[in-house]
Amino acid sequence: MTVSSCPNCTSPNICPIAYGYPGDEEEYLKLVAEKKIFPGGCLIDDNNPVWYCNNCGHKWGNYRNPDNIDSFDYDQGFNINEVYDQ
Ligand SMILES: [Zn+2]
Repeated sequence: MTVSSCPNCTSPNICPIAYGYPGDEEEYLKLVAEKKIFPGGCLIDDNNPVWYCNNCGHKWGNYRNPDNIDSFDYDQGFNINEVYDQ
């Protein structure tokens, strides 16, 4: 499953939601400013959404379902698994 658009408004202007404290805060804030990630906070549970729509603010997906993070681009310098040690 590849997520490429918002299920609510069909906008392609979406980004993954990042949880936990960033290892590289400067890079993290840069990505947030560029709307490449959405800050999800430090708390995480089974119902956390994975995707955020920059257009309408809709959040969806399930953090615990790996299918939903298939298209996350780890090459952008922010790795959820490194930041949040499971
Ligand atoms: Zn939307």
